[in-house]
Amino acid sequence: MNYFDYRDGRLFAEEIPVSEIVQRIGTPVYIYSARTLRRHFRIIRQAFEGTDTLICYAMKALSNLSILKLFSDLGAGFDIVSAGELMRCLKAGADPEKIVFSGVGKTDHEIETALTADILMINVESRPELYRISEVARRLRRDARVSLRVNPDLDPGTHPHISTGHRDSKFGIPLSQVREYYAEARSLPNLVLAGLSTHIGSQITDTSPFVEAGRKVAGIVRDLRADGIALKYLDLGGGLGIPYQEEPSDPAKYASALLGPLRELGVKIIIEPGRVLVGNAGIMVTRVLYVKETDVKRFVVVDGAMNDLIRPVLYEAYHEIRPVEERGHSALETADVVGPVCESGDFFARERQLPPVEAGELLAIMSAGAYGFVMASNYNSRPRAPEIVVDGSRFHVVRERENFDDLVRGESIVSLREGPDA
Ligand SMILES: *Cc1c(COP(=O)(O)O)cnc(C)c1O
Repeated sequence: MNYFDYRDGRLFAEEIPVSEIVQRIGTPVYIYSARTLRRHFRIIRQAFEGTDTLICYAMKALSNLSILKLFSDLGAGFDIVSAGELMRCLKAGADPEKIVFSGVGKTDHEIETALTADILMINVESRPELYRISEVARRLRRDARVSLRVNPDLDPGTHPHISTGHRDSKFGIPLSQVREYYAEARSLPNLVLAGLSTHIGSQITDTSPFVEAGRKVAGIVRDLRADGIALKYLDLGGGLGIPYQEEPSDPAKYASALLGPLRELGVKIIIEPGRVLVGNAGIMVTRVLYVKETDVKRFVVVDGAMNDLIRPVLYEAYHEIRPVEERGHSALETADVVGPVCESGDFFARERQLPPVEAGELLAIMSAGAYGFVMASNYNSRPRAPEIVVDGSRFHVVRERENFDDLVRGESIVSLREGPDA
């Protein structure tokens, strides 16, 4: 469910026609719906009602400061993967006691920053990282709350680039070594063994991988108890999918699948939803520049590109594409929707059935809230698009469109002419 709907053939973001925003802001542009974001957060919270669960929004999905503030105000914590994300969510008012730090390659600086901010816990992904955190904590004369991230060795059946819980993946600690790890961690100075974590992948539509993951981590928690290690937190990661084209399981079913094997453990649950909170709450609007017919194909060339939204080529992702102004019913035509960037991978859709489209028209790329703007780059020296948040009948520019100065910030021109010593 989201608040991007048609009224008399015009696409609205909540109470505002999308075309009105575009008139003021231009294209390409990201538009988020605050009402949708709040709704999604409440639905997830309700799904876990009656349990001791902390929702840590996986902010890598969409990390604009205003979005972080919105979630923080609703009581969310955050799952971060870098010092940059830590600074961002603290700036937006996050409570450090609700922040967990994930990722396979934390630097000393990042560990220091996390310990100094006194976040809830660091999710550890390897033995050397465990030693490093202990060392840094000792140097800072602090205790580091850590949680070991276990790789439960299962295949959630999603695209390989968003699947993280398989034994071949770089993430987590092998199931078979987890007990040894905890025994070892217990002997290291300045570590507090706070929890156990897992995260099996993203855009998971079926509940069975969650059940399996839950069963496996529950087994570990019991084994560890037998070893005299009582963990306070069980962090189950994120991963619930959204309906780009597929039918994901609803949040209530997801919650009961996840919690089923864990109910009797009496541990505090952490979940790290990303995509499910923000994916459908955002669209990217782009203008048609040209319609180009070749011998074999029709190309709709738009002013947005892979540098603005890379998911189609990176994950073979499907995004619904809709006209911002509907023009009555005509037969659908097959077209590739492509951007101006000099790469064949620069497309939003291939062989897509679309209503007839003309130059100048606006198209909305739906469900672009998650892993959209955050992956934008300046490739081809294209300024990054602005981000807009709509709230009822008002909209706010929460990130301006970049300009040429932004593009060359930090660069300098040195003279590299061949000199006499050449
Ligand atoms: C990316 C990530 C998430 C969020 O995944 P979604 O599929 O967006 O819900 C949660 N936890 C960790 C550790 C992640 O890397």
